[in-house]
Parts: sequence; C-alpha cells; structure tokens
Amino acid sequence: MMKIEVVTLFPELVDVVKRHGMPRVAVEQKALELSCTNPRDFAQNRWRKVDERPFGGGPGMVMQAEPLALAIENAKANLGPATKVVMMSPQGERMDQSWFERLGKEAGLVVLCGRYEGVDERLVSSVVDVELSLGDFVLSGGELAAMVMIDGIARLLPGVLGHAESAGQDSFSNGLLDHPHYSRPVDWRGEAVPDILMSGDHAKQARWRLKQALGRTWLRRPDLLDKLELDAEQQTLLREYVSEQKAGGS
Ligand code: SAH
Repeated sequence: MMKIEVVTLFPELVDVVKRHGMPRVAVEQKALELSCTNPRDFAQNRWRKVDERPFGGGPGMVMQAEPLALAIENAKANLGPATKVVMMSPQGERMDQSWFERLGKEAGLVVLCGRYEGVDERLVSSVVDVELSLGDFVLSGGELAAMVMIDGIARLLPGVLGHAESAGQDSFSNGLLDHPHYSRPVDWRGEAVPDILMSGDHAKQARWRLKQALGRTWLRRPDLLDKLELDAEQQTLLREYVSEQKAGGS
C-alpha cells in the first residue's frame, strides 16, 4: 500500500480528495493511505503561529522552517526514512502523466504545501527532494496542486481502475491523446455514432480507435507526435486520417 502524508495548513481541504472518485476507491481498496499533518501542531509558540515577515523586506509572510521540518520529520518517522519529500511550487518541474507513474511506484510520499509568499528557502534546500508545479501560474497555496497530484497517482495504483486497459488508453499514457468516445443512443439529435463502432468487427474497431487517437494528437497536440517514433501501421493510419481530413471527412 502506498502512503501519502500531506503537510498543510488546511488538512480539511486536502482530506476531501479521498472522499470521491478514484482516490476514494484507492483508499477503500487499501491501495492508498492518505493523511494530513498540520504544521501548526509543531509551532513553537502558544498561538500556533508558523509564519513570519520576510527578512530583507518585501510583502507578505513566509512559512518558517522549523515547524515544517518537525512536521516532515514526524511524517518520515511514520512512513520510513527513505520517503521522498515533494514540495508543490510554481518554480518546480511541471507535473505530467509520467510524474504520476513514477511517483506511484514510491512506497511513501511526504507532500509539502506552501502558503503565503512561500517557504523559508533553507527548509527547501535541506529537506525537499523534488519541487513540482501544476503549471505556469500562481495559486494561493499548494493544496489544490497536491490534490491534483494525489488524484493522478491514485487512479494508476494497481487494482484501482476497473479495467486494466482503461488507464493505458487514456491521453498521455502512450504518448497520444485518447480517441473520442460514444455511447447510447445510437442517434442523438440527428447525429449518428460512427458506423464502424456498430459493426461488431473488433479488429477494425481497434484500428479505428488507434487512428482517431493518432489523428486527434496530430490535430491538437502535434508536439506530442514529435516525441514518438510511429511504427508502420501507425504511420499508415495517420496518413489515412490526414487525407480524410483534407478531403473534408471526419
Ligand atoms: N512567491 C511564490 C509563490 C507563492 S504561492 C513564487 O512566486 O514562486 C504559495 C504557495 O502556493 C507556494 O509555496 C506553492 O506551494 C503553492 N503554489 C502556487 N502556485 C503553484 C503551482 N503552479 N504549482 C504548485 N504549487 C503552487
């Protein structure tokens, strides 16, 4: 079972992530254990205050090193000394699917969520193993980024997704975007489901799905295609898709 301990000033916010969807399934199936630690419990004053004005001026407040260090050390004592410490930060490496896959193989993670102007740099350089960002924007705290990461990891843990192949066809897992999906009714407001999906020919349908995935990626995220070496079949399918597009088909 993977154990994640989140160090956050808002444990009740992060806790919500395990009440719904795949993280909830992961917790119920004992593939994931998620707990939170509030650094205020390690504050060194009666007011449970863990932030201070920045040295050298500038606006806002900074999270102090010592309560965070104590909270992280306590979490590591629970999870094991080799546990990686991940800090959510807009200055970190951008998270993507491959990060979720890699982190999901860890036995445990301590996840540090910043607030205010951020965290005392000495804490970052001494105890944080990796800084991860949700994207090129600034949030008011690391909690939402941590919840995104936990959701992304949880749904990949063994036994969590219903169909083993289900994660394998999702966007990014094989370097491609997912193919489009259709369900009942066959005719919706005059629009029919593609014939091939009604044909019962499984081999053709698998080809159609791959072709759509390749085509969508070509249309929407050509940068992803640049990173792939397509095999002969994939090249053929993509060529078909491109010529159908140019002919005005779908
Ligand atoms: N002054 C900092 C931003 C502080 S925002 C800077 O400009 O780099 C407060 C906290 O929110 C950060 O410590 C971090 O934990 C979190 N945060 C903000 N934006 C984020 C992002 N894009 N990805 C991950 N965490 C983020």
